[in-house]
Amino acid sequence: MGCGTVHIVGAGLAGLAAAIGLVGTGRELVVHELARHAGGRCRSYFEPALGLTIDNGNHLLLSANHAALAFLKTIGSEEKLVGPEEAEFAFADLASGDRWVLHPNKGRLPWWILSKARRVPGTRPVDYLSLMRLLPERRDRTLGDVIECEGMLYERLWRPLFLAALNTEPSEASALLARAVLRETLARGGSACRPLVAQGGLGPAFIAPALDYLERNGGKLRFDHQLRRLELVGEKVRALDFGEDLVTLTDADSVILAVPASVASLFLPDLPVPTKFRAIVNAHFKLDPPKSVPSVLGLVNGTAEWLFAFPGRLSATISAADRWIEVPREVLATKIWADIARLTGAGDELPPWQIVKERRATFAALPHENAKRPPPQTRWRNLFLAGDWTATGLPATIEGAIRSGNSAARLVKTAAQARSLNGSGRGMRS
Ligand SMILES: Cc1cc2nc3c(=O)[nH]c(=O)nc-3n(C[C@H](O)[C@H](O)[C@H](O)COP(=O)(O)OP(=O)(O)OC[C@H]3O[C@@H](n4cnc5c(N)ncnc54)[C@H](O)[C@@H]3O)c2cc1C
Repeated sequence: MGCGTVHIVGAGLAGLAAAIGLVGTGRELVVHELARHAGGRCRSYFEPALGLTIDNGNHLLLSANHAALAFLKTIGSEEKLVGPEEAEFAFADLASGDRWVLHPNKGRLPWWILSKARRVPGTRPVDYLSLMRLLPERRDRTLGDVIECEGMLYERLWRPLFLAALNTEPSEASALLARAVLRETLARGGSACRPLVAQGGLGPAFIAPALDYLERNGGKLRFDHQLRRLELVGEKVRALDFGEDLVTLTDADSVILAVPASVASLFLPDLPVPTKFRAIVNAHFKLDPPKSVPSVLGLVNGTAEWLFAFPGRLSATISAADRWIEVPREVLATKIWADIARLTGAGDELPPWQIVKERRATFAALPHENAKRPPPQTRWRNLFLAGDWTATGLPATIEGAIRSGNSAARLVKTAAQARSLNGSGRGMRS
């Protein structure tokens, strides 16, 4: 074979999507991963404190996430993402005791806003028009510059929605990214907003079948293989230095760097990358979820913002959780459980629990951080970038990570076509 090798560095979703996007191109595919496992920030592991396999964080997807759904279809695990037939979001307000179900109608014409039974209680149809201010193209500003970040509709809908999607306090978050979320979801109608969760875990849904698919298609996976340095000569990467081994590249080889922003900037010091991050805290409680708790429940005026019911456990999520990072785990568990106990009528006694803090869960979706995100092309002709922090136009999400991997794969294919057209592929390795 004379098509060369594509080295993909990083086996998170961006790297896996890039590799999968190159299956069938005749290129040899090698994925190099620092850890002993794949998945990066989207993975499952056995948690001894609970005696259960859990995810590193509760992940919510929406039916609008077409790249994520296509990825699952390719690897044969579409059915592992489950959710209601229609867009329905149950909410509970812990301050007032109100409970409601937000129920956008399927089509683009948002008549659900006119229905008291479907919209947020305590809001009027006219309140929803405020988000129209986000739609015109404009230079990026904070969401707080564009809409009023207070009032019933904000507290009960826009804040939970944008906080979950952007992992940044919405009032300071990028209006452009908030608009991208809105355009891809609510603006497309309820059919784009069905909540989807990997009930059996992220690993079994996204990661294990992706690795199987790659291996079945001849891809090579090298775990415990940390890239230490890129050898950059002129317009190209000439070698990948993994410490114990040096991989020298031929003219036909390409590299996709699908590592976190902070790691990419070590290899490419001039690369502009987001440098501020936001934490996510998850609290897991081992118990059979009471029937009154839906699979996803939005919490207003609570410590956590979302509660997920999984087989044998309830898990709560706090986004943009930096203020909780230094708080002792017991204090957090007790506080979050107190909210759950109030909601469900359970006693105050804590079931077996674990708190998982991801300090740098995503880049901070602030206007100036969003502006730093680089495109997938680099000035080195055989080097491409992928990762949720690259310029996808979306916040740091599974959808963004997978789209970034798809873009990098497309660029590798285009570069190969260009090379074969101008005949410069003659010196390829065979
Ligand atoms: C707690 C939490 C909750 C989240 N919730 C949601 C959610 O509800 N919905 C949603 O859509 N998204 C959510 N996300 C975001 C989503 O998980 C990420 O956007 C996505 O997983 C990022 O994938 P990635 O491949 O870009 O990066 P990563 O997953 O970070 O992958 C990078 C990989 O590169 C490897 N690597 C690093 N350095 C090297 C090196 N030198 N050599 C080789 N390999 C290296 C790493 O080990 C890692 O495997 C959440 C994230 C977290 C942390």
